[in-house]
Amino acid sequence: MSASTLLNRLDGVKQTGRGRWIARCPAHRDKRPSLAIRELDDGRVLLHDFAGCETSNVLAAVGLSLEDLFPERQEGYSGQKERKPFYASDILRCLAFEALLVSIAALNVAKGVELSEEDRKRLLVAASRLQRATEVCNGDS
Ligand SMILES: [Zn+2]
Repeated sequence: MSASTLLNRLDGVKQTGRGRWIARCPAHRDKRPSLAIRELDDGRVLLHDFAGCETSNVLAAVGLSLEDLFPERQEGYSGQKERKPFYASDILRCLAFEALLVSIAALNVAKGVELSEEDRKRLLVAASRLQRATEVCNGDS
C-alpha cells in the first residue's frame, strides 16, 4: 500500500514535508490533527496517533490492517526500525491541543479555581501523551 491509499480515507490531511503528513484520527473524535503519517523510501508507511489510539484501531476505522502498511517484499527492503520517524514539528502540531489544555488548567489554578476530579484525570492523560511523544520523537518506542 502506498501512503495515498491511507491518506485518501482520512480527513484534514495536511502535508508537512516529503513523505510526511498530519491528519485527523479516524478512530476517535479528533477535532484537530493528532495523527502523524510517514512514508519511508522503502515503501513502508508509519503512523502514530498522539491522542493515544492504537495503530491497529486507526487502520480498522478506515478499513485497513497492519499488513497493509508494509509493501510487497522487494529489493532494498531493510526491515529496520526508523530511528526518528516523525518530525518534532509535526509532533508538536499534533500535541498543541494538549499544551493548550495544560496551560488553561494552570491559569485556573493560578486564579484559585479548584480543578475537578475529571480535570485532574484529563491533565494526567495530557502528561502521558506528552511523555509518549518524546519517546516517539527519540525513536525509543
Ligand atoms: Zn485517535
